[in-house]
Amino acid sequence: QRAIGILTSGGDAPGMNAAIRAVTRAAIFAGFKVFGIMRGYKGLITDEIEEFSTQNVSNIIQRGGTILKTARCKEFQTKEGRQCAYDVLQRHGISALVVIGGDGSLTGARIFANEFQFQIIGLPGTIDNDLYGTDSTIGYDTALNTIMDCVDKIRDTATSHERLFFIEVMGRDAGFLALNGAIASGAEAAIIPEVATQEDQLDELIANGFRKSKNSSIVLVAESPSTGGAMGLAERVKKEYPNYDVRVSILGHLQRGGSPTAYDRILASRMGAAAVDALLDDQRNVMIGIKNDEIVYVPFTKAIKNDKPINRELMSTLRRLSI
Ligand code: ATP
Repeated sequence: QRAIGILTSGGDAPGMNAAIRAVTRAAIFAGFKVFGIMRGYKGLITDEIEEFSTQNVSNIIQRGGTILKTARCKEFQTKEGRQCAYDVLQRHGISALVVIGGDGSLTGARIFANEFQFQIIGLPGTIDNDLYGTDSTIGYDTALNTIMDCVDKIRDTATSHERLFFIEVMGRDAGFLALNGAIASGAEAAIIPEVATQEDQLDELIANGFRKSKNSSIVLVAESPSTGGAMGLAERVKKEYPNYDVRVSILGHLQRGGSPTAYDRILASRMGAAAVDALLDDQRNVMIGIKNDEIVYVPFTKAIKNDKPINRELMSTLRRLSI
């Protein structure tokens, strides 16, 4: 009987549990043994591994976070650490892995897979939506909905005063959450790393007068050195445009939490089942993606460190709707 391992790594994202459930159940359905590996690559090295039955993943589809826990693991970035992980896998008789995580986690997976000729299937699990080759990543839709709810609440207070609000959202070097969050919540603008430097975007906003007809403005800012973050922008406005009453709100970790949306649960379930199909099909070193509603296999080398372009139509829509 073939044995596979499953782990979640890097930042947690809502829907990871739905993915763990899907992989586990589809794999058992296909006749595999399934091992849950705790704390990402860390638990792989320290041998925190237990066999999963279908009951281990009962009642988790609706839960945020990940029952397998996640970690960042420096040792896995060394040859010795990865050798240790390989030895543990050999001891358990595990011959393939499903890794759920973001860019860093799939980079580790690619290196490990090449080093030991080990079969790995990746699932895109990150709220940032920054993996190439899939329309959406697991957790992105939930985070977007959380942002929308938060901005709705901030708007209630923002409109009671005449204020310029900078709301910082996650996304590291990707503006998907900021841009689509701005459209969904009817914000005035989004400052995103893909577009230009902070100077360009801020000056343009100020030049447009932040829509003088409105008595408050909300701008979503992607956290990234290239946008300057909400704090950096607010400092600049205070200095250069002292007549604005500027406020900052950094949404932070609450964006990672909460029960996954229907969209994320379905995405995670489909991708989890597809990961097992990919194993059966002897695929290796690929991430499961969904493009135009179809399952696709994206080679790790393409999925990672490959800038996923922002749809220009979205930027134009935001601009036209915020007059
Ligand atoms: P998120 O997008 O949510 O932040 P992530 O998967 O990108 O998630 P990282 O912290 O970048 O999160 O990576 C998670 C783990 O993947 C690291 O702690 C490390 O164990 C492993 N990893 C990352 N890069 C490498 C690498 N170059 N070589 C080996 N392992 C790596």
